[in-house]
Amino acid sequence: MRNQKSKRKELFTVDLSRIEGNGDFKCPKCSTKISPDDMTEESFTILDTIMKKGQIDRIVLKCNACGIQINLTGFKLLTNSGW
Ligand SMILES: [Zn+2]
Repeated sequence: MRNQKSKRKELFTVDLSRIEGNGDFKCPKCSTKISPDDMTEESFTILDTIMKKGQIDRIVLKCNACGIQINLTGFKLLTNSGW
């Protein structure tokens, strides 16, 4: 059994400017749908929101289904991301 779980956190980056729609995307690892309209935080948890000059620069969130951290970027190019 070589498949031991690494304790290093996996970090994925999702660029919203490459995604069509209002900010919905799928977890890069487990494909759980992550949507800014989901306020229950059942599928994800927002860990951090980084603001720059009064605008969201990036959001760090955790997929609750598989536990990875996702760096959401690309807000600058979006006026209506829903986030
Ligand atoms: Zn996931």
